[in-house]
Amino acid sequence: MKFSDLTIYFEELEATSSRIELTNILSDLLKKLSPEEIDKVAYLLQGRVVPFYEPIEIGMADKMVDQAIASACNVSRENVQKLSAKLGDMGLVVEQLSGGKKGSKLTISDVHEGLYKIANTSGEGSVGKKINVLAGLLKELDAKSAKHLVKITLSKLRLGIGDPTVLDALSVAKEGDKSARPVLEEAYNKTSDLGFVAKKYWSAASAQDALKAVKKVELQVGKPVRPALAERLPDAESVVKRMGEEFAVEPKYDGFRNQVHLDRRQKADSGKQVQIFSRNLENMTHMFPDLVEAVKKEVNAKSTIFEGEAIAFNPVTEEFLPFQETTKRRRKYSVEEFAAKLPLKLFAFDLLYLNGNDITNLSYKERRKKLSQIISSEGQIMVAKEEILHSSQELTKMFEEQIASGLEGVMIKKLDAPYKAGNRGFHWVKFKRMAAGELSDTIDCVLLGIYTGTGKRTGFGVGGLLVGVYNQEKDEFVTVSRIGTGLTDDEFRKVNQIAQKIKVDKKPARVSSLINPSYWVEPKEVLEIFADEITRSPVHTAGKIGDEPGYALRFPRLVSFRGADKRAEDATTVSELINMYKRQRKVKV
Ligand code: ATP
Repeated sequence: MKFSDLTIYFEELEATSSRIELTNILSDLLKKLSPEEIDKVAYLLQGRVVPFYEPIEIGMADKMVDQAIASACNVSRENVQKLSAKLGDMGLVVEQLSGGKKGSKLTISDVHEGLYKIANTSGEGSVGKKINVLAGLLKELDAKSAKHLVKITLSKLRLGIGDPTVLDALSVAKEGDKSARPVLEEAYNKTSDLGFVAKKYWSAASAQDALKAVKKVELQVGKPVRPALAERLPDAESVVKRMGEEFAVEPKYDGFRNQVHLDRRQKADSGKQVQIFSRNLENMTHMFPDLVEAVKKEVNAKSTIFEGEAIAFNPVTEEFLPFQETTKRRRKYSVEEFAAKLPLKLFAFDLLYLNGNDITNLSYKERRKKLSQIISSEGQIMVAKEEILHSSQELTKMFEEQIASGLEGVMIKKLDAPYKAGNRGFHWVKFKRMAAGELSDTIDCVLLGIYTGTGKRTGFGVGGLLVGVYNQEKDEFVTVSRIGTGLTDDEFRKVNQIAQKIKVDKKPARVSSLINPSYWVEPKEVLEIFADEITRSPVHTAGKIGDEPGYALRFPRLVSFRGADKRAEDATTVSELINMYKRQRKVKV
């Protein structure tokens, strides 16, 4: 397909806010793509040229793009900059300057190749090379195509499409309905690679074979697995009711989750022998040279994927440090210095893959057994402490011991459960400290909009925040609270800084709201919020069906900025919120 034909679809998608329409337009587009193109388009829809977890960014700044536009359109750089100041959008600038130009035969693959080259060029002279490649492509393209290409290079393509919508559209394109979505989603959860899943689905001769090929997708070392997540229950009795007569209980370490991939067939200096991914599936390997070495030395396997919680400790007193200290290890600079200052222990708690085999279908009990065969209980990497318990009394006792030793609580695990990638379920239950009448957990909200301030707050640029949660089924963000207090002055300032970067000029397609803030932002930033209670409210769209009220937060206050820890789609979901609402009445101390 020609790139200019792809951008006709992009134009349509940009102008649509109904999800059904978006899915239909997208499936029309996908139907026309070959197996060689489908993965490239899947990545482009994510604003990428490769899967999102690969650290290859297109990453061009305005001041590089304006030079490329100037060169492609034969105008001075000053003119480009003047026009950019007037139009406020580099995409519109190139569209105007390319007006009337006829499109060329450049295909999706040609443009993808150019973008890949841009993303992979580094070192001396790379700025000039990137500008040349972009200018070369822009010269060839018609006005609309040039606009979209510029948006892609600046990471500003906003089609309002999340991964679940792409999965739906793939299914609709092949089956005529959404019936293949669960199978596609499972493959995506196992690999986190939308292009890879789409290509598998597109490469078989018949629709039946295609689905079979996707069903066979297994974990692969190097492709991060979307993490299994825990449910909440209000008290020890409900846990025992759910888990049965025997269950495993582990301390809930308060550090950060690491997913470790080891493949001893890869060369030691390739950066691929050991890879470490965050909860958010970002490649963090370069931040933890000490853990990389420990994995090589201490893990007794040819290839494996395991998960654990990393936590900083004081080597003299052997005490664990609070989360605020541990989190200092997630840094780009002074990595070695901080590795020495804040050594980490990694508590391995699950094994997903071992010596060539995907073992997610084995029971937790079997996976744990294999885990302790490849990792010892001493060293920098240790198996998480585990006790097999049988009653609510035993559970309460262990919970209290963990709280007394300064930990967050416990994780309770079902012994016969498989590992469910990308799912929150009762195979794991988290049990944290609770207070009577208060919610037992914080809520991860997505920043959706800003109310500009009055009075003292004018100085901060922010007087209030509109926040929401995620509706997984509909792939949309719904509002849950307006927050005007509960932030320090510095926090208001920080919100302003963040909001300015992600400000958009109209309500994003994936946001459903009955109220309008002063301005909208792209749903990107996740804020951890603590509230006294969840209430029903006609104002908010979270969980709202027809004339029934939605759900809202009472007395919300900011606990933390989740930063790179969570993507918007990892925020609390509507169904979790409703479950929390139902349970809050039953909370016991
Ligand atoms: P939270 O804010 O509670 O960390 P979350 O959405 O990141 O929420 P949950 O599924 O709610 O994740 O809680 C599980 C998290 O607890 C895991 O992601 C992991 O980082 C951490 N954790 C600590 N100790 C353990 C353990 N023994 N087993 C599993 N997860 C653990």
